[in-house]
Amino acid sequence: MSGSQNTKSAIVVGGGVIGAACAYRLQEAGIPTTVLDEESEIPSASWGNAGHIATEQISPMASPDIIRTIPQRMFAAGGPLDFCWQDIAIWMPWAVRFLRACTPTRHARGRSALTAMLEHALPAWRRLAAASGKPDLLMEHGHFVLWETPSSAARGRAAWTRLDAARIGDIDRGQLAGLCDRLAIPIEDGVAFKGTGQVCDPALAMDAIKQAHRRAGGDWRRCTVNALVRRGDAAALVLDDGGRIGADLIVIAAGVGSRALMAGIGVYAPVIAERGYHVEGAVADDWPAGLPPLVFEDRSLIATRFGSRLRVSSFVEFGRRDTPPDPRKWARIEHHIRKIGLPIKKPFSRWMGARPTLPDYLPAIGIHPDMNNLLYAFGHQHLGLTLAALTAEIVTDLACRRAPAVDLTPFDVGRFAARSA
Ligand SMILES: Cc1cc2nc3c(=O)[nH]c(=O)nc-3n(C[C@H](O)[C@H](O)[C@H](O)COP(=O)(O)OP(=O)(O)OC[C@H]3O[C@@H](n4cnc5c(N)ncnc54)[C@H](O)[C@@H]3O)c2cc1C
Repeated sequence: MSGSQNTKSAIVVGGGVIGAACAYRLQEAGIPTTVLDEESEIPSASWGNAGHIATEQISPMASPDIIRTIPQRMFAAGGPLDFCWQDIAIWMPWAVRFLRACTPTRHARGRSALTAMLEHALPAWRRLAAASGKPDLLMEHGHFVLWETPSSAARGRAAWTRLDAARIGDIDRGQLAGLCDRLAIPIEDGVAFKGTGQVCDPALAMDAIKQAHRRAGGDWRRCTVNALVRRGDAAALVLDDGGRIGADLIVIAAGVGSRALMAGIGVYAPVIAERGYHVEGAVADDWPAGLPPLVFEDRSLIATRFGSRLRVSSFVEFGRRDTPPDPRKWARIEHHIRKIGLPIKKPFSRWMGARPTLPDYLPAIGIHPDMNNLLYAFGHQHLGLTLAALTAEIVTDLACRRAPAVDLTPFDVGRFAARSA
């Protein structure tokens, strides 16, 4: 791969938050960059997510603890976990790899890899927000985790304390009392996280990054990339009109769509659609303005305020990206909204979208070993928004032949080449 002085053009495949942030940072580094993004009926995960900068999530979900708690996590048992049964051929092989990644050794490795990444996530977001001319995109007011019963509070507090005691503190008494007065459920206990936050609105954040990319001279095209192919020792793209294009640099950042693209060059990247749902509506005028994201851990829900609206998100449902949504998930979120007494006015809007998730819950970020113009950045699971700014800096460092801030060995997509991985 050539350095930025010699890189005459770059193409980023995928215009979600990862692709948009990569394109902007590459353009700023002096590499003219075009984003190719397909027209999609449902806005992608990058538009519909919970907006949380979740630097506390250092523990990959592929863990021994998760396996123990699967039965109580199932949708049928009132939990957030479900499977699209018609898509069993997709998620069964993925689940086998997931189970293999849940050993204590692999979990510990994954945890140190994610910890190293997440340490840089918030500073990278500060730089991205400032560079795009919108420092207010980022709201660094932490988040609250709340519990409703003495036993869940004891368990939850102990678990977070074990994971990272320095990150949690008590919620301001006044704020907690104000919140309890407005809710219809008892809050037994809660903690305030430091070093986390939210974006002012995921859609506005995406727009700000896209506009900054355009202002810097970047281009954005609506089109589907049908295939990624090898042309000698370089990668090229086949577009939906049958045309082939190449570039000095191609970045695959197509979320769940990255799997099919990487397969075209013989790289196995088992990204699955880990689908989530949200319900959103205007928030009542007397809801406290300064509240950070609220996690109702007993219900596996997060409520985030975006301006005058409150968005409530939940669910991990494995299947295909385009399998129709399951309306029972929205009904369940709306049930929780009523029970908790969240002051959201009707009409509600409903959304479903897919997190791109690899079986070990680590993203894939790196350079293809023998195609000298191919980079990849996908599989960011629940942390795509959180890690977007950092991923963009890493991709730009790789493009410019600079050493990235993070060791990329654990994120090499080649880790899935072995049958046992
Ligand atoms: C309910 C929910 C809540 C979430 N909350 C949070 C949160 O609070 N914090 C956080 O950090 N993360 C959160 N996430 C995860 C986060 O949204 C994702 O990790 C992130 O959006 C992934 O971004 P991406 O750009 O990789 O993929 P996507 O957003 O899926 O974007 C990929 C883009 O590539 C395009 N594409 C795909 N294939 C092709 C092709 N062949 N040709 C051209 N274009 C193509 C797609 O159309 C799409 O526009 C949440 C996700 C969900 C579902």
